[in-house]
Amino acid sequence: MTEKSYGGSTGIPTPKSITKTKNSQEFIEETKKKKMESESRIIEPEEMEKLKQAGEIAKKVKQYIRPLIKQGTPLLEIAEKIENKIVELGGKPAFPTGLAINEIAAHSTPTYNDETKAEGLLKVDLGVQIDGYVADTAFSMDLDNNEENKKLIEAAEKALGAAIKTTTVGTPLNKIGAAAESEIQSKGFEPIRNLSGHEIEQWDLHAGLTIPGFDNSQPTQISEGTFAIEPFSTNGVGAVREGKPSGIYMIESENNVRDRFAREILDFIVEEYQTLPFCSRWLVKKFGTRALLAISQIERAGILHHYPQLIEKGNGKVAQAEHTIILTKKETIITT
Ligand code: MN
Ligand code: MN
Repeated sequence: MTEKSYGGSTGIPTPKSITKTKNSQEFIEETKKKKMESESRIIEPEEMEKLKQAGEIAKKVKQYIRPLIKQGTPLLEIAEKIENKIVELGGKPAFPTGLAINEIAAHSTPTYNDETKAEGLLKVDLGVQIDGYVADTAFSMDLDNNEENKKLIEAAEKALGAAIKTTTVGTPLNKIGAAAESEIQSKGFEPIRNLSGHEIEQWDLHAGLTIPGFDNSQPTQISEGTFAIEPFSTNGVGAVREGKPSGIYMIESENNVRDRFAREILDFIVEEYQTLPFCSRWLVKKFGTRALLAISQIERAGILHHYPQLIEKGNGKVAQAEHTIILTKKETIITT
């Protein structure tokens, strides 16, 4: 997943309070506490282990899925294979698998009855979590044997490499962005300026710091922690607009729903996904299509954030590359 900025520091609303279960209450309070201590939080060995395990699973899933993706492969099949493999290897999906074609930059996952087939410049963005510790990673593929696609992908990958190489504890955020930007521009493309990487905390995919993919003049220094670095390259104008609703949701505030079945679904969401994103496809799989009405009832009650698809403003093609890193004073560990 990526973060869209709306002019402020972070674009994605953070979960405010969920009091459905004692468990969720506890972790929300913990998350708040951690946020207040946010500067330079040392990662405990046990957390480190889970972050690394999640990363190892993500690596294996990428190796497994790459050769299975061809022009014409149904996106639904790709998403299900990825998510099943994550579970088979002992993790859980941290968010719905992103499969975004050409000018769709992000926040696009197949619906339960999706018939879209893979083509063009495909971004595959997948997440693994173990006890809420997340690995978030993405790669892009050219399925059209198209030179421009290949160059865009190379630009995003080089930008990711340069950004990670630049990053040590204390690096100003704009320097990380500048490293990505200059790689992308040297290939004749633009970075997408209103999408960014992000800090990651347990059960909180878009926590704390925003990591830019261009020089945004932000001098704040990066501290120890877990971060997703994810530059986007495009042959369009370098910004995204919101498209149609994606079917990807996240709990953003507490409220009640009256309908009994909707309440059952909400309890399941809180229990199973907590404050991580989920999608209607997963709920249809579990409860059947009657889950769709329940989701819209829960959405109308103001409990959910519904992510729109993010589309390149000039309808340019978009490539993305993403790794999760653990940054300590000693070293940078690329977990994915
Ligand atoms: Mn991300
Ligand atoms: Mn991602």
